[in-house]
Amino acid sequence: MDPRDSKNAIRAVLFDFDGTLTGPGSLDFNVMRKAVGCPQGRPVLEFINGMASQQKRTAALQALDAFEAEAARKSRPNDGAEEILEFLRTRGVKVGIISRNSLASIRTALENFRRIRMEDFSVILSRDDHFNPKPSPEGILAAAEILGIPVSQILVVGDFVFDVEAGFKAGAITAFLTNRGSSHPCAHPSDFTLEHLGDLRDIVSLL
Ligand SMILES: [Mg+2]
Repeated sequence: MDPRDSKNAIRAVLFDFDGTLTGPGSLDFNVMRKAVGCPQGRPVLEFINGMASQQKRTAALQALDAFEAEAARKSRPNDGAEEILEFLRTRGVKVGIISRNSLASIRTALENFRRIRMEDFSVILSRDDHFNPKPSPEGILAAAEILGIPVSQILVVGDFVFDVEAGFKAGAITAFLTNRGSSHPCAHPSDFTLEHLGDLRDIVSLL
C-alpha cells in the first residue's frame, strides 16, 4: 500500500480506545472476565450476549460497566496519544474512536486527557450504538458513512487483532499498534505496524 497514491490518501483515522488511545493495561481483561464469569480466552461481550437468561445478562452487563468505569478513572492517555491526535487534526485529518467500550467509560477516560477533549473527535462509536462489535466491520462502515469519507481513505489503528480484522473486512487501511511489545501479537496481517503512536506521523506525512 502506497499512501502517496491519492486513492489511498488518508483522510480520517479511526482509533480503538483501550490500549490504543489509553495506555496498555488500563483494562485487565482477565480480571474483567472473572467479574462476569466469562471463561479465559473468550471475548466478553459475545459471552454476555450469548447468556440464555435475561436476568444474568443484565447483571453481567452491570458488572462489566462498573469494572470499565473504575478502569477508565484510573486510565491515562497512551504515550504520544495527545500529540498524534493534535498533529492529525492540524493536518486536516479527521479523528474518531471505534470501541467495544461503553460511551460513559470513554467519556470518563477522556477526562484524564489534558489537551484533547471529546469534541475533538468527528465520530465516536461505542457499544451503546448497538453495532455488532469488532471484529465485525459494521462500526467502521457506519463511521465512514457519518464522516462522508470512502472507507478506502480511512486508517484503522488498534492494539488487538479484532481491530485489524474489522478494518480489513471493512476495506479500510489498517495499522497494528504493538505498544513496543505490550500488545498481544496480531495474527492478522495489517498494512502497517506501529511500535508507538508517534509512528503514525511517518504514514500520514507521506501524503
Ligand atoms: Mg484495544
